Amino acid sequence: MPTLFEKIISRDIPADIVYEDEWVVAFRDINPQAPVHVLVVPRKPLVNVAEAGPEDAELLGRVMLAAAEVARREGVAASGYRLVLNNGEGAGQSVFHLHCHVLGGRGLRWPPG
Ligand code: 5GP
Repeated sequence: MPTLFEKIISRDIPADIVYEDEWVVAFRDINPQAPVHVLVVPRKPLVNVAEAGPEDAELLGRVMLAAAEVARREGVAASGYRLVLNNGEGAGQSVFHLHCHVLGGRGLRWPPG
């Protein structure tokens, strides 16, 4: 069963794609929690960071670099932004295909609560 995000990557489900490269596809979250809320999703359907292995080291780095590129393109690099990877249901993960949230364009408190 392909994950929801695999269906977005294959264009079977529409999404507002803002960036893509050989490693990732990045698109706007359907329920944005900030003026900029983009999900950076690796083409490989890894479940989450906890399930990643040493063979995924480059992929994880590519996700981070793509997140920084998305932040630049979305105009939040200078004002600051937050990257979030929810790992497991207890942390709020609802789609079990690794994704990095890029959140920006408003003040972000710490700790997040
Ligand atoms: P998680 O809770 O797993 O960290 O994040 C999943 C995110 O995917 C949520 O922020 C949710 O709003 C977003 N999402 C769920 N379904 C869709 C969809 O069909 N399209 C898009 N663009 N985002 C989705």
